[in-house]
This record gives sequence, C-alpha cells and structure tokens, in this order.
Amino acid sequence: MERLRHLEVPLNGHHYASDGSEIDTETKDPYERVCISSVAFHEGVHAFLAIKRGVGVKQASRIPGPGYLGKTEPYDFDGVAAVGPAALGLEGCGHDLRLASYKGVNIGAAKATGRQMVSEDPRGLRRVSAVIEQKGSATGGELEEALNKGENVLVRIRRRDGTTEERLEEDVRGETVMVPFQEYKLPKAA
Ligand SMILES: [Zn+2]
Repeated sequence: MERLRHLEVPLNGHHYASDGSEIDTETKDPYERVCISSVAFHEGVHAFLAIKRGVGVKQASRIPGPGYLGKTEPYDFDGVAAVGPAALGLEGCGHDLRLASYKGVNIGAAKATGRQMVSEDPRGLRRVSAVIEQKGSATGGELEEALNKGENVLVRIRRRDGTTEERLEEDVRGETVMVPFQEYKLPKAA
C-alpha cells in the first residue's frame, strides 16, 4: 500500500521520510548567489513591501543622487513600506522616519506589520533586493516578475532499497519546499 503525501522539506537541507527514504534539496535560484549591498537591500525592503501591500513600485534604484544613496518610488505612499528598513534595524532611515511621521503613520504598528510581512517571505525580499543589486535600477515590473517567479529546487530522493530519483520542484513556501512523495509502507515485523 502506498500513499501520496506532501512533505515540507527545508531548502538546501534534508529530511528523513518515515519509510526510511532520504530527501535532499538544493535551490537553483539564480539570485541566491548575488552579493547584495546594504543600499540595494534597504531599497529592496521598501520595494518588496510596496509590492506586497499592493501599492506597486515605479522604479527602485541603488544608484546615488543628490542627497540620497538609493531611491524607491512607489505609486503611492505606504507607511509600512516607508518604515520597513527601520523596522529591520537597517541604516539610513532618518529620512524614511521623518516622512512617515509627517504623513501621520503609526510608526510602531507599521514596523510590526513590515517585520511580519518580511518574516513570511524572506526569500522574496532577497530576490527583489538581488534584482536591484544586479540592475542598479529596476522597474516595478522587473521586481514583481522576480518575486513571483517559481523557484526551481532540485530534489534528490534516495529510497531505502538504494534507488535514487531526481526532479525539480517549484512549490517553495518560506524556507521549505513542498515535495510530493509516495511513501512505501514498511513491511510489518514478523
Ligand atoms: Zn529608505
């Protein structure tokens, strides 16, 4: 008797199934290897939150200009996106916090919401920041594409009988990948 289950396996980690099989996963995300600068990450937080909040982004850039190191232009002001970098304890948030205060944002509540949204999708934030890093300046469309693209994860399964199987899975949720898995029932001990 066999049954199909969906196992939650840590990304770049491994898992022992209850039938004795071993499952290893390895992300093939091209953004994983990008070295992200602090400015790109700061702007990435603004952009990620603006997209997730449904406000959207015209452009996000890590290219310095007069009086700023990088810049994210949302389509509309959003308090959570504005205070996101400060919520994560990043540097260079003086202007963000002054603007949020001026707009009447409840800073404590907005920070808590931002932290929660980042904790639900840390890899999404990483992807958005990596695109800003790589391109220097990215459009909202480019950032949303990176955020929503399915992530390829190489899954290797070693059965207890020694057979192996490799395949790609895309259903990544936070730090885990969902692996459809046919579990073999162990023979009952005699
Ligand atoms: Zn900022």
